[in-house]
Amino acid sequence: MKVASFYDIDDIRYEDVEKPRIKEREILIRVKVCGLCGTDVSKMREKTVATPAVLGHEVAGDIAELGEGVEGLEVGERVVVSHHLPCFTCRYCRHGSYSQCESFKKTNIIPGGFAEYIRVLPPGVEKSTFKIPDNLSYEEASFTETVACCLRAIKRCKIQLGDTVMIVGAGSVGLLHLQLALLSGASRVVISDLVDSRLNFALKLGAEMAVNPGKDSVEKIAREVNEADIVIVAVGNINALAQSLNFVSRGGKIMFFAECPHNSVLKLAPNLVYHSEVTLLGSYSSTPSEQRAALELIEKGKIKVKELITHRFKLNKLSEALALAMEVRSSLKIMIEI
Ligand SMILES: [Zn+2]
Ligand SMILES: [Zn+2]
Repeated sequence: MKVASFYDIDDIRYEDVEKPRIKEREILIRVKVCGLCGTDVSKMREKTVATPAVLGHEVAGDIAELGEGVEGLEVGERVVVSHHLPCFTCRYCRHGSYSQCESFKKTNIIPGGFAEYIRVLPPGVEKSTFKIPDNLSYEEASFTETVACCLRAIKRCKIQLGDTVMIVGAGSVGLLHLQLALLSGASRVVISDLVDSRLNFALKLGAEMAVNPGKDSVEKIAREVNEADIVIVAVGNINALAQSLNFVSRGGKIMFFAECPHNSVLKLAPNLVYHSEVTLLGSYSSTPSEQRAALELIEKGKIKVKELITHRFKLNKLSEALALAMEVRSSLKIMIEI
């Protein structure tokens, strides 16, 4: 089968590898689409994975083969599958830090989504393989993982009805946060980005105000925001994180929701946390319950995802997709068609 293997940032090979063989309680999926995620981009840019690697985890496709003992699924069914799964019993899971669980870090899909076929291991088959509702396309369903990650972060923010939420970064993830914040009862969502076309789109999706820190000073933006109860930083940029400290209200929360370059260090006045009682939060990945909820939100049309797709590439053009994703331009979600 064909895969797109990452060897280095300028060396992504469209090559043949052996099709995975499944065992008992496993399934084989013929991948149809796989979204290119910001975390894939950062893994490739920073080369934080052992190479060669087949990345990609926002996968939707058809069940091609069923292992013995698989129940409730059939060959030919359209499914979406998530790659990580917690054990639900270890100390991290007991404290709700599912993504810190040792089992979580072992992926359940082999080799990765940028492949014609993936093998799904038993825990993934049993807990994080979901049938795609008839009214959704593969592309829409492939957003399940991203929406679930955003949903988990939004839950951790504990937005109250009437809150002001500021979202830093209007890429596809920022725009999902915007929609989820509004669904969660925020009365006012302010969004910032360096790209005006993204800001215009955010306004269409319900943002009350869109600001461009490339054009206006942080002080001016902070005055206009007038204290956000919650600031969600959806760009992996240390300057954006540093600026976000200016927008949060006393007693407010800042959600770190993007991977910064390795060895990034944030300078922080400790009294912001002590005296002003600002809470710093992080949220990484998602669990099957959030994935289920995310798929339902997409199915019911509560969250717009199709509109976020700006580009599509065939699997053999992954390096072009990557180059586009690394530019600060108007691209939002990039889909890889397989
Ligand atoms: Zn992702
Ligand atoms: Zn665990």
